[in-house]
Amino acid sequence: MQAYVVSPEDWNFFLDGLMKAGAVVGPCRRRDQPRFHHFDHLDHALDLTLDYVTTTMPPKKFFFPTQETLFSFTVNGPAEIDRVGETTPFTLIGVHPCDLEAIDALDSAYSYPPAEKRWAANRNRAVIIGVDCMPDEYCFCTTMGTSGSRKTCDLFLTPIDGAYLIEAHTLTGARLLEANPKGPVQARHVAEREHWRKEKIARTTASLAAPIANFADILERGGLTPIWEEVASRCYSCGSCNITCPTCFCFDVHDEFDLTLAAGARRRSWDSCQLLEFALVAGGHNFRAERWQRVKHRWHRKFLYLYRRLGRPYCTGCGRCSRACTADINIVDVSNQLISYSQNGGRNA
Ligand code: SF4
Ligand code: SF4
Repeated sequence: MQAYVVSPEDWNFFLDGLMKAGAVVGPCRRRDQPRFHHFDHLDHALDLTLDYVTTTMPPKKFFFPTQETLFSFTVNGPAEIDRVGETTPFTLIGVHPCDLEAIDALDSAYSYPPAEKRWAANRNRAVIIGVDCMPDEYCFCTTMGTSGSRKTCDLFLTPIDGAYLIEAHTLTGARLLEANPKGPVQARHVAEREHWRKEKIARTTASLAAPIANFADILERGGLTPIWEEVASRCYSCGSCNITCPTCFCFDVHDEFDLTLAAGARRRSWDSCQLLEFALVAGGHNFRAERWQRVKHRWHRKFLYLYRRLGRPYCTGCGRCSRACTADINIVDVSNQLISYSQNGGRNA
């Protein structure tokens, strides 16, 4: 791995070059709510805000749009299918370690046979530049082992004393830096990066009370219905927790016909397992009609089923679901409640 130091001037030169070369997406302040940030296409370099805590929505929306047309068709004469897909390359900049890890998790999920080709095509369009961050009270990336992730990024930035230490993690990243002014990394720069890492861990106060492997066993053993029911009594089944999650990947597909029934389109949109209709099937049966069953399903999906199948929890500790929940259902608190209940033999501590 090559590493350099880039001064603010070098960084501006680099960013300017990126924006001249093509589309750049990065974290910006929301114009309607300046306290919040979102990933958006950058029109001006000054809009980029790299020292943000989190974004309401994760960057996965650029690989897996919230709604999209898969193809359109006509049925006059032989059916014709026009596959719709974006092809423009872009640079996704300012991605935090937990979100890099989430993109990697979705790479695994969507490449599980049969592979999801649209995800792969969109991933191949992007160069990714990560940046390190400091947590708020909702982050628990340290527990989830994602706080130092560099997966999926081509370049990674760590803020150091008025500059950035920039690491090249791929050949693409190294080539991007080739023509850019930059300085050598000295021992004090490495020490500052290490200081940042330690400070981040020290400031991460939320954590799970058991290792993931043990938590998965606890969920598998069951006997937790009173906790599911208590959480469900507060949950609105609004789906915000899923919609803001960087690792949730469920979607719904439906066909729309025009009024002549001669043409139409197949569309897909993000879905949420917390919505009542999610497990409703033809004939009217709903496999998770009760709210507590949907709450339980969410935890099982994040920390048990996918952990067993793909070898990792489908939670990166980003805290978005807890921030977004208007019922104040906090994923760390509920998980620790479940752990404590199980360890106390089915009694609340
Ligand atoms: S965001 Fe909160 S209230 Fe809404 S479905 Fe998720 S846990 Fe329930
Ligand atoms: S479950 Fe919550 S904390 Fe975990 S990755 Fe999803 S939004 Fe982040």
